[in-house]
Amino acid sequence: MAARLVLVGAGHAHAEVLRRFAQQPAPDVDLLLVSPIAQVPYSGMMPGWLGGRYSWEECCVDFAALAAAAGARWVQDEVVALNAAQRLLVLASGKTLRADFVALNIGSTVLTPRSIPGQPLILPTRPLTALRVHTEHLLSTLSSRQAQAPLRLVGVGAGAAGFEMLLGLQARLTAQGVTAQSTLTTRSGSFLPGLSVPARRLARCTLQQHRVRLQLGFDAARLGTGAVLDAKGNALAADVVLWATGGVAHAWPAQSGLAVDASGFVQVDATLRSISHPWLFAVGDCACFTPLAVPKSGVYSVRMGPVLADNLHAMLRGQPLSTYQPQPRFLVLLNTGDGHAIASRGALGWRGRWVMRWKDRIDRKFLGRYR
Ligand SMILES: Cc1cc2nc3c(=O)[nH]c(=O)nc-3n(C[C@H](O)[C@H](O)[C@H](O)COP(=O)(O)OP(=O)(O)OC[C@H]3O[C@@H](n4cnc5c(N)ncnc54)[C@H](O)[C@@H]3O)c2cc1C
Repeated sequence: MAARLVLVGAGHAHAEVLRRFAQQPAPDVDLLLVSPIAQVPYSGMMPGWLGGRYSWEECCVDFAALAAAAGARWVQDEVVALNAAQRLLVLASGKTLRADFVALNIGSTVLTPRSIPGQPLILPTRPLTALRVHTEHLLSTLSSRQAQAPLRLVGVGAGAAGFEMLLGLQARLTAQGVTAQSTLTTRSGSFLPGLSVPARRLARCTLQQHRVRLQLGFDAARLGTGAVLDAKGNALAADVVLWATGGVAHAWPAQSGLAVDASGFVQVDATLRSISHPWLFAVGDCACFTPLAVPKSGVYSVRMGPVLADNLHAMLRGQPLSTYQPQPRFLVLLNTGDGHAIASRGALGWRGRWVMRWKDRIDRKFLGRYR
């Protein structure tokens, strides 16, 4: 019987795995992809989509097509549990899937407070697959707004995603004739961690140019009437809250008995294999690479893709596995929603329209690999 390899999640690394399987088919393998959707948005272009630069279709990878080209079966479903002892995946539909080998590329999720009437409207940045629906709902609700006063927009989380998405949303609202008064908040004492000092300075200038106030040290915990509240009850007035706090682990891998770190991310060795269950791989944001801490960033998931593809092929043939070497630093490109972008690499930083053109070329080239 052919060995069954189940790819769970339409993440960056699995796009590469499917591309490689299409180039180098493995006829003795029953290859499956479990993903709730076929058209998967690429996060790098989501701020540009939100800001109105790209159409949704321009930003998506068609995983159904990738799976078909790789000879894989696309299972339109979601994994909700894993019985590790029996190598059985439990799906949201109630069905189960037996697997010989599994690869997880399921990203992370975000814990978002619920909004009830009277409280600010909330736009969570994750899951990205729901971003379009959430944004369209928000914009249609705002279109019937009568108020003369500016819309109070608060971004919670001042990492790269929070920074870009707040500027993108503000640009979109401005284009729709809505004047926003924006604040970007973070619980920490600094913003855009990991960026160079010049890039952060340019980011601060950009916020000032767009009249976005930066409030450091505000640990947003919940929503109240017309406000975001921190744990002590301090309030920040808000009509709309963009929730972009850091990713948290999906619960089911830890519940399945896989070895996970203190945050619930699946611990893997240098070959990207689970340290407790060697028939399972985990890559991207859902993994904790035990040899060395690596940032939760799409760039790392992309770079894990080729190693994962090689190792899946090698494991199916009983050959030795390769190791993944994380790059020591990487280029960060932030879309500022005004036709410009900021670049940060090492100790350097730049801003300009040319940086946005550079980012656009990189993003389109990445997507072009999977079309
Ligand atoms: C708005 C925004 C902008 C960003 N911009 C950048 C950027 O420019 N550059 C960068 O490097 N990083 C960026 N990031 C971070 C980046 O998105 C993540 O680090 C990256 O997406 C992680 O990739 P991944 O391959 O691990 O998983 P993901 O890209 O998150 O993909 C996981 C997939 O698995 C699916 N899935 C989840 N659970 C299940 C399940 N149980 N069963 C089946 N399928 C499941 C999801 O639907 C999703 O399609 C951004 C993040 C956000 C929110």
